[in-house]
Amino acid sequence: MTEITYIGLGSNLDQPLQQLRDAVIELASLPDTSLITTSSWYRSAPMGPQDQPDFINGVAKLQTSLPPRKLLEALQVIEQAHLRKKDRHWGPRTLDLDILLYGGQIIDDTDLQIPHPGLHLRNFVLLPLAEIAEQLTFPDGTPLVLHLENCPSDGIVRLSSGDPCGTTD
Ligand code: ADP
Ligand code: MG
Repeated sequence: MTEITYIGLGSNLDQPLQQLRDAVIELASLPDTSLITTSSWYRSAPMGPQDQPDFINGVAKLQTSLPPRKLLEALQVIEQAHLRKKDRHWGPRTLDLDILLYGGQIIDDTDLQIPHPGLHLRNFVLLPLAEIAEQLTFPDGTPLVLHLENCPSDGIVRLSSGDPCGTTD
């Protein structure tokens, strides 16, 4: 059985746009998975510690038959391949891959929460998600647009069109 899943991508180190473009290609190459579309990239100031570069974020829509935990493991392998550096909570990182949604499933384990707990609060996730899935409804029945209305969009800049290889920086 296949499911639609939305993956949040983020980076603020070591040529973030290149990290993200490579990650999209790697997501598309996962077993039993196909890439359906990607959002534009968005630049925003970091959450938490401000003494670090701006983040670039975006969202990829995948169709997969990998179960959620296998998908998480696969994302962690990709993160490691990008020599992910992370020394503090909300600190800089070369690549962060989060499962935002997985079909209509709700998972609440210590190592895996779906929907991703920060999803409905973060404009750098909600904006790219809305770009590719405006009609989306969360598993609890809340429409994505409702979260979007409650989330200020100041401080975030859209960089490029939905071309996974990006043509404008
Ligand atoms: P964040 O993405 O919140 O900034 P991290 O990427 O450092 O934080 O968190 C990594 C941990 O988050 C992983 O060890 C993983 O087990 C856990 N986690 C829980 N839910 C998810 C999810 N939906 N997607 C990705 N990681 C998750
Ligand atoms: Mg993460």
